[in-house]
Amino acid sequence: MNQASYEVLVVGGGHAGVEAALAAARLGGRVALVTLSRDSIGRMSCNPSIGGIAKSHIVCEIDALGGEMARNTDYTGIQYRTLNTRKGPAVQAHRVQNDKQAYPRRLQAVIDAVSSLDVFEEEVTALWIKDARLRGVCTARSGVIAAETVVLTAGTFLGARVLIGHQSRAEGRFGDPASDQLAASLRALGLSMDRLKTGTPPRLHKDSIDYAKLKPQPGFEPPPFFSLAARKERDRWFHVEHSGERERARCAMFHVEHESSEMAPWVPGSGQIPCWLGETNERTHEIIRENLEKSSLYGGQVTGTGVRYCPSIEDKIVKFPDRNAHHVFVEPEGRGNPRVYPNGTSNSLPVEVQEEMIHSIRGLERAEFIRPGYAIEYDFVDPTQLNHSLETREVENLFCAGQINGTTGYEEAAGQGFVAGVNALRKVRGADPVLLGRDEAYIGVLIDDLVTRGTDEPYRMFTSRAEYRLLLRQDNARFRLRALAEEIGLVRPEVLRETDGLESAVSAEMERLETTFRGQSSLAQLLRRPENTYEDLPERDAGLSSEAARQVEIRIKYGGYIQRELDKLKRARPLEEVAIPGGIDYRGIAAFRYEAAEKLDRIRPETLAQAARIPGVNPPDIAILQMHIRRMT
Ligand code: FAD
Repeated sequence: MNQASYEVLVVGGGHAGVEAALAAARLGGRVALVTLSRDSIGRMSCNPSIGGIAKSHIVCEIDALGGEMARNTDYTGIQYRTLNTRKGPAVQAHRVQNDKQAYPRRLQAVIDAVSSLDVFEEEVTALWIKDARLRGVCTARSGVIAAETVVLTAGTFLGARVLIGHQSRAEGRFGDPASDQLAASLRALGLSMDRLKTGTPPRLHKDSIDYAKLKPQPGFEPPPFFSLAARKERDRWFHVEHSGERERARCAMFHVEHESSEMAPWVPGSGQIPCWLGETNERTHEIIRENLEKSSLYGGQVTGTGVRYCPSIEDKIVKFPDRNAHHVFVEPEGRGNPRVYPNGTSNSLPVEVQEEMIHSIRGLERAEFIRPGYAIEYDFVDPTQLNHSLETREVENLFCAGQINGTTGYEEAAGQGFVAGVNALRKVRGADPVLLGRDEAYIGVLIDDLVTRGTDEPYRMFTSRAEYRLLLRQDNARFRLRALAEEIGLVRPEVLRETDGLESAVSAEMERLETTFRGQSSLAQLLRRPENTYEDLPERDAGLSSEAARQVEIRIKYGGYIQRELDKLKRARPLEEVAIPGGIDYRGIAAFRYEAAEKLDRIRPETLAQAARIPGVNPPDIAILQMHIRRMT
């Protein structure tokens, strides 16, 4: 290896880039993080909130595998809730409102503390390719930085245009420069790219809101945390508080050793701030309808496809003309932060129309604008050009992760970043890539969807995308990913041992409940009754930890459904296990339909199951392919 060369070079310090760089560096890799500005590392471009339906599962998975997002969220949160508490465990999800300044600041401090990770404040203008091999990146200032692998995580910045009404300017995010040269260089390399759009609401001054007209939404107590670390500290914190050592605990818990901010550290989960609920009305909708042609989205300025499930307010009014109100969540952006975020009002109308529209909402009549809402349109790389390791097939040793692959959301970006960072380093070190299955993790579902199907709109995660969602709950992430966590090597051995201990305790308790009878019924049968919880059992094990008790309850109550999914998985597994030889000539298989051959040749699935998931590839095509592979091997 060239001594001056990094093993992994990550372009971009957003949510994908941070996880990629930390994972590779913590595994002992020599890593460079090259990003436009040090201060914006880990910045939350949109709402300072992490989690929510299905996204929370990704955050828990990142934690179970040794990534940072869950801890960072827990330690800088200002409001913690669990969504869908009345529904089954598969769709329950934590959601945390974060302090917009503390979140990136803590991440920056975490990065500073990793000695094998160098940060460069630079614009990457192109990939450095010499003798048909990737050698690193070219930058606007330093010339070149050498690296064996490159992970591209440039988010919304490639060829980006910010749009407000009919005005458009080249920016990668409000106030940040667009990355036009890098976008052009990727195209020149032959990568296929397309355009997408997303948007964000205006930001309002917190003191200009009439909170008496809105409905408060307090956080949950005790705060539901994503990370094992914060959950442990919460337990310790409650213990310490009772023994009167509050101040010492406060300092121990913020977890930023080099914190030099004016912001006082706080105990994670303490002093929660409420969010507020309001709604639009007929007048709001009328203002939007009257001004639709002035919006960038509807006035023809935007050509990319937008986020279907996180639509702009213009989209909502046009697509749901019968609705006379839409929710608006008024969310604080932090403790000492004057800005609030009116979630649900994302738009690209001219500023004066935005003001009129916001002022028509009860409670926001006198709202002062700190920044207008805007739309952003940007290039993304067609993710069907990637392998499941997130390496591109076009350029060896080049990995892509995050919004650049057509996704939207911090969590989706972080999950991909983690996988790309780990796999880039493994590639350098000659190890097989870590591949997550659709039955193992939402991150696996996400990557498989992107790589085998591609996307023509910003892709966000939903529980409905996972066919094994009862197996992929947020509560069991550490159990289902335990073996993979050990293989990757980022989770401490004592944590893995603790998981093993919990697993044994859960199994033993389930066995006891199945074999202990009260009258005609076993304790497990009593627990299966809808009205009963583990706590209600006449002879529960009082020594069982709350985490193990929850596993026992879920695994017994939902055992029938879980078994059904396991059976489905067993039936699907044979196809998952048939590897497709790398150099297969699809166009040369005479019996193939043209469409199937073309799609398989372009996407190059790694297993028969992946081939079967490609739209346009039908069961008869799979049968032909299976026969062909059998003849080849
Ligand atoms: P980003 O967070 O965008 O980070 C990209 C990083 O790359 C930045 O640090 C940048 O400085 C760096 N970079 C770019 N080009 C270069 C270069 N040439 N050289 C060096 N560094 C470079 N998500 C939702 O879930 N819901 C929403 O409603 C939503 N709305 C959004 C609205 C807007 C206006 C924007 C901008 C984003 C929105 N998002 C939303 C998306 C969310 O912000 C992203 O999904 C997430 O930040 C993506 O993470 P990332 O790491 O892929 O990229």
